[in-house]
Amino acid sequence: MQNSPDYTRFLSTAAARRQPSAIREATQLFARSPPSTISFAAGNPNVALFPFKEATITLKDDTTIQLDSSDMSKALQYLPTPGQADLLEWLRKLQVRYHSPIDFKRYELCVTNGSMEGLSKVFELVLNTTESILVDSPCYSGSSDMSKALQYLPTPGQADLLEWLRKLQVRYHSPIDFKRYELCVTNGSMEGLSKVFELVLNTTESILVDSPCYSGSLDFLRGFGANIISINTDSNGMSAEYLDNILSNWSDLNTLPRVLYTIPNGSNPTGASMSLERKKDIYNIAQKYNLLIIEDDPYFFLQFKKLVPSFLSMDTDGRVIRLDSMSKVLSGGMRLGFFTAPIPLWQKLVYHQQVTSLHASSLSQMVALKLFEKWGLSGFHQHTEQISKFYENQKNLMVNAIKKHLNDMVTFNEPTAGMFIWMKINGIDDTRKLIYEKALEQEVLLLPGSAFFSDQSKTYPYVRVSYSVCTPEQIETGMARFGKVLREELHK
Ligand code: PLP
Repeated sequence: MQNSPDYTRFLSTAAARRQPSAIREATQLFARSPPSTISFAAGNPNVALFPFKEATITLKDDTTIQLDSSDMSKALQYLPTPGQADLLEWLRKLQVRYHSPIDFKRYELCVTNGSMEGLSKVFELVLNTTESILVDSPCYSGSSDMSKALQYLPTPGQADLLEWLRKLQVRYHSPIDFKRYELCVTNGSMEGLSKVFELVLNTTESILVDSPCYSGSLDFLRGFGANIISINTDSNGMSAEYLDNILSNWSDLNTLPRVLYTIPNGSNPTGASMSLERKKDIYNIAQKYNLLIIEDDPYFFLQFKKLVPSFLSMDTDGRVIRLDSMSKVLSGGMRLGFFTAPIPLWQKLVYHQQVTSLHASSLSQMVALKLFEKWGLSGFHQHTEQISKFYENQKNLMVNAIKKHLNDMVTFNEPTAGMFIWMKINGIDDTRKLIYEKALEQEVLLLPGSAFFSDQSKTYPYVRVSYSVCTPEQIETGMARFGKVLREELHK
């Protein structure tokens, strides 16, 4: 190994703050568990519900590339962040072939949504605001001069797909004044979400969030340097009373939060969904304190009984940015999401996308469009109904198994949407220890709840159970195993 520079010298303050997700600890441990282990830990959607089976791509020389059903199910599922393992291996060979790096072991690769996404992330990795950077002159306008980039046309997505998504928003949310909003397609809803956070927040500023909260958002907000204000939730999601209490007792009006972030349906991790009354209460509070609501709703179509009206549908003031995801409906791997935002905010978000990912994958957008055109709105609706029925059935199996095997050792609310059950283990303070030691030994995995709280210094008695990908037999056997773990632990 050559001498290495001190890399902390190159990190921006925000990049230095970034830490691995608490979930990574679990995934790394779980990856080493024997194949007979039953896992309720991963939050992946079930690939069997994605509508695509196989694909053939014909090349210009009339030969074909075939994606069979096994390739396809890999292509449609979420991947590890750096990229598909075999492709990465191939790209490593490419670097050796063309660059013969002196000591290639000191590097790693990561696939991005175009090199512009990587470039914008590299700028953020190394630069603080107002810091100097040396660039070619003249320089690529997309990266050197933000103000020039602002003049370019917005790139919110393929026009026909956007038209189709507008119809979807009207069909499912009937916004009171749809003219005041615009849509933009993103590489999954997480891309849109991170851009929305950056749009509205300054470093150290407060943001109101569900507690517990989606770990991906918490990790982003921590790295960003936001002041995370946790608002308690119950079986109906964010508590309006708790929220009002926090805001009415806020001591300094100059730092009063301006932004509220919530997952209204089948929340990750709690599985909780807001009732219509709760949403109205929260919306009224948002009006009272002039808050912007970020509605992160990837489990909207996984509501089991009826689709409860969204914040977007009740937005009289234009104070809602809504994020939709196709990850649970069409495929996680296609990385397709979209946001619906009041036009002045949408415009700024699109400017940001122009200088980061440029636009969401055209190929994914085109495949989605062709499918939507083939299905029409009624076909799309039928598909989402099938999906929600599947997850409801899975939920029923899991609830029955929990009642049978865990009984009064746990407390939980039965979800009405989504893929998760949130359990409190009665009489145990730290579920990390319980899962990483005892449950792992008994070959059953659940996700410790600590990853979903902003305060990482405490211990928590919760676990997240995912019922999305397991078979009925695995649900029965896995919960029987976990019951044994709990009995031994509680009665020792
Ligand atoms: N928001 C929540 C609450 C999620 O659970 C997830 C993923 O599971 C996301 C956002 C990101 O979804 P996407 O695949 O659309 O980026």
